Amino acid sequence: MFLTTHTSAAILIATKVSNPILVVILGFFSHFVLDFIPHGEGDLFNDPSKTHQQKLLSMAKIALLDLALALLFLFSFLYLKKPDNVLIFIWVSLASWLPDFAWGTIELFKIKFLWWFYLLHHRIHDLLDIVYPLKYGLLFQFSFIILMLYLTFNF
Ligand SMILES: [Zn+2]
Repeated sequence: MFLTTHTSAAILIATKVSNPILVVILGFFSHFVLDFIPHGEGDLFNDPSKTHQQKLLSMAKIALLDLALALLFLFSFLYLKKPDNVLIFIWVSLASWLPDFAWGTIELFKIKFLWWFYLLHHRIHDLLDIVYPLKYGLLFQFSFIILMLYLTFNF
């Protein structure tokens, strides 16, 4: 899923759990739970007409845009909600983004000893093998973010 979507789950976790270590662990594992849900990014990165290099480049552009959106989302939330434990929100968000950062870094620098993590991330991502168009994926992820915000503010 997009980092922005992961951030919405991270915010929910930070709102409900107060133990900082547990929050970071939950944030990290929430990434895999969310990635496991089919979220319609299939045709985004699998354009057969593109070379591996072109795919990586467009992926990097999307990732940067996504990171900018995720940061905007997180800091808007912090600005509006003004929680006491601002740092926890930042830590849990970083933890929930970490698997994707690690994945990008491992891919970019071909870090061999972490290849297992790269494969694990991919496997979890593709476990259900349900691929659907990006437009529905965006709709699904947007609805997911709304649900997370609803749970954050109402429970
Ligand atoms: Zn991921």
